[in-house]
Amino acid sequence: MISIDSFQCKRCGICCKWEGPVRVSEQEISKIAAFLNIPEDEFIRNHTVLAPDRRSLSLMEKEDGSCVYYDDEAKACILQSVKPQQCKDFPKKWNFPGWDNLCEGGKALHDE
Ligand code: SF4
Ligand code: SF4
Repeated sequence: MISIDSFQCKRCGICCKWEGPVRVSEQEISKIAAFLNIPEDEFIRNHTVLAPDRRSLSLMEKEDGSCVYYDDEAKACILQSVKPQQCKDFPKKWNFPGWDNLCEGGKALHDE
């Protein structure tokens, strides 16, 4: 049994690359649009989509489902200072069965 309390992110970026909506609230949309220097309505139109359950907007994804804001070269999130709460909350506040076999920080918990 792993203990998530000692989880430490290894910054592998895998969670930014798997499929699934990254939901954004109205407040987060305002912050991200301001950070990117894009008018809010333009950001909503060109950089978000309706989440599959139609209950919120989510960030637009690349064709393979990965997040457009993950910088592969820098191995970092371009939106680091304004990234959505959903990203900050994984995996301690939400996760899914088997997450600990995909996420490098989760895998490390098995070695403890
Ligand atoms: S917004 Fe940043 S932290 Fe969130 S999925 Fe995209 S690249 Fe990862
Ligand atoms: S998959 Fe896990 S270890 Fe890798 S960046 Fe995401 S939270 Fe951190």
